[in-house]
Amino acid sequence: MCPCAVFGVQGIEFPCFFANCPEKRLTNLAKKFILEKSMKIDVRRCNAEKRYSGELNFSMEGDNSLIDIPFVTFASPVAFSLHYDIWEDDCVKVTGSVCFDLSGACSRCLKQTQQHIEWQTEALFVPDTPQDEEYPYRGGVVDLGEFLRDSIIFALPSGLVCPDECSAPEYNEE
Ligand SMILES: [Zn+2]
Repeated sequence: MCPCAVFGVQGIEFPCFFANCPEKRLTNLAKKFILEKSMKIDVRRCNAEKRYSGELNFSMEGDNSLIDIPFVTFASPVAFSLHYDIWEDDCVKVTGSVCFDLSGACSRCLKQTQQHIEWQTEALFVPDTPQDEEYPYRGGVVDLGEFLRDSIIFALPSGLVCPDECSAPEYNEE
């Protein structure tokens, strides 16, 4: 029997993370569980295990309510590729990139188009009072949620444009 049986939750079908499990399906619940785990850095535990840096790679559904451009939505998951360093004073520096595709109406010519976005992002998490542009964390665990959301917002362009030269439709000005 696969060790995934350990994770069985009453009344909820909870599938397996193990590669050799006969149950290969990964339900939304399991994805959410994995995502929530990967969105946190347990600083206390890292310090105890003397792991002072690491990589975090994960992707999540794009939240279309973050997009301010008319008729534009996410056309791919939002992928994060992050590196973190835990400093001696327990500040945590996170750097990396966020990538996603957008699709919708070109802001210039209004034709359907798609655009790939890649954005470099970084943040400093501090265990006590944060200065400007720093994020606080408490209880020895960094929660990346707000930073991830901010990164997506900063990465979003002000408009979507075709990869080729295009021109605005001509209006009859009266
Ligand atoms: Zn266009």
